[in-house]
Amino acid sequence: MKTLKIAIQKSGRLNEKSVELLKNCGLNFENYKSSLISPVSNFPLEILFLRDDDIPEYVQDGIADLGIVGENVIQETEVEVSYLQRLGFGKCSLKIAVPNNNTIQSLADLNGKAVATTYPVILGKFLKKEGINADIRTISGSVEISPGLGLSDAICDLVSTGGTLKSNGLKPFVDVMSSEAVLIGCKDSEKDDLIQELIQRIQSVLRAKE
Ligand code: ATP
Ligand code: ZN
Repeated sequence: MKTLKIAIQKSGRLNEKSVELLKNCGLNFENYKSSLISPVSNFPLEILFLRDDDIPEYVQDGIADLGIVGENVIQETEVEVSYLQRLGFGKCSLKIAVPNNNTIQSLADLNGKAVATTYPVILGKFLKKEGINADIRTISGSVEISPGLGLSDAICDLVSTGGTLKSNGLKPFVDVMSSEAVLIGCKDSEKDDLIQELIQRIQSVLRAKE
């Protein structure tokens, strides 16, 4: 019999809620921090624990049938996958923020300025749509310290409570996109009976929470 694979984040902000959702679906599996694949004992499913950045491509290429990942990561990787279900956790927004004492007051003030981000694709499309010509500096982390270091004039980063921005002397300026965790599938895979059954279990867990 065929075994499905679902990719979830190995560790980080989406890991715990993703595991909880699958457990609430009645799926039995071990959740060892060291394992990369966990078989489910009571459903033909294997859980792949991956870095979130890799999940969209694994699903696009059909290595995993399903995945749980933030919409921000899907948009940034520009993959072709089906959005099957919004999951209601991992909510955040991608925002442009500037130092509190900065003179940047409108989007147009970003022209000719440097904006540091780990989301160059999403930011690039947004600035293009807005007709802004800024210098996008792609860095791999700790974006919020870059204005203080003189590396950028503004940043574009994920924000949930805004606490990290505040403690780095930054204020949110413009919303670029809002995001939450979503269930994605390989294109056309929705037709599969097993996938349908899993989606239905997930939807009834979500309904019970409302
Ligand atoms: P990985 O090691 O898997 O690459 P990561 O460091 O890229 O992890 P996390 O910080 O764990 O990612 O965030 C995972 C996802 O959680 C984000 O892509 C986003 O969708 C969501 N998220 C919710 N709130 C926040 C927040 N305040 N900051 C960053 N991500 C958030
Ligand atoms: Zn990541």
